[in-house]
Amino acid sequence: MIENKFPGKDITSDDLKDKFPLVAKKSPDHKSKFSICGIEFGGDKIPVFAGPNMVESKELIEDIALNVKKYGASFLRGGAFKPLSFPYRSKKYNETREEGINWLNYVKDKIKIPIITEVMEEKYISFIAETADILQIGSRNMQNYPFLTACAKTGKPIMLKRHYGSSLRDWLGAAEYILVEGNKNVLLCERGVVAPHTHRSTSRFLLDLQVLPAAKEITHLPIVVDPSHATFWRPWVSSMSLASVAAGADGIMLEVHKDPDNAAVDPLQPIDYFDFNKLMKSMDLVAKSIGRSIF
Ligand code: PEP
Ligand code: MN
Repeated sequence: MIENKFPGKDITSDDLKDKFPLVAKKSPDHKSKFSICGIEFGGDKIPVFAGPNMVESKELIEDIALNVKKYGASFLRGGAFKPLSFPYRSKKYNETREEGINWLNYVKDKIKIPIITEVMEEKYISFIAETADILQIGSRNMQNYPFLTACAKTGKPIMLKRHYGSSLRDWLGAAEYILVEGNKNVLLCERGVVAPHTHRSTSRFLLDLQVLPAAKEITHLPIVVDPSHATFWRPWVSSMSLASVAAGADGIMLEVHKDPDNAAVDPLQPIDYFDFNKLMKSMDLVAKSIGRSIF
């Protein structure tokens, strides 16, 4: 690492010792490996999380769980407590909250698929932790430090999404808040950053694939990539997923919906079952070319 005595956005060698010693690699080939529900992270296999943006109904989440499992997803994703961008609600654009978590719990038992779901508020952490196998901390809460500490204290595996305006230094600092509580099962997740320009009016974010090699120089933690939120645009999800695998992603999170155009939240980004199946096979080919695999 180039010596830099002026911390800011850049990471200095002192940061590795003083600011995030637990997140920092101890040696060049130090890589964390751990299992969640029998699924290994940080190894040669690349687990996939798939499911809708929002847990909309019991019937829909069951159908999606069945299909993503059939095509090789290791975890079902889906939010019941959602960081919706606008406060107004309709019958369709509405969080399903406790009911949604109960549907996830039903599906987890019935379809036998582990669950990753977002926690938004401290008072619901223990309720959600009874169902979730991984607690997802969303990008908007990345630097809500007391919240990170409270989630870490459950002892549950945690996926920490990068805020779309966060430097690598701030992201790793936030992860240190979880590790310092003795919670070692932490996944980082790149989900797109805000750039001063976009490639079309619908692309809210820019997938920062360069953060994968950059983060891997510094941290031993596995890194998941979420091309669905990054692109915000279904036609780009497949190529960015393949690129994520090639760039060293240790997990892929994908929005998959039975009827993408009619998804209650972010209908521009989910892919359907047919495309998910196709993408899983293509990602496996790319993974195999670098000595890894999806299946
Ligand atoms: C999500 O994964 O459902 C989500 C809201 O993601 P982000 O926090 O990255 O916007
Ligand atoms: Mn979303």
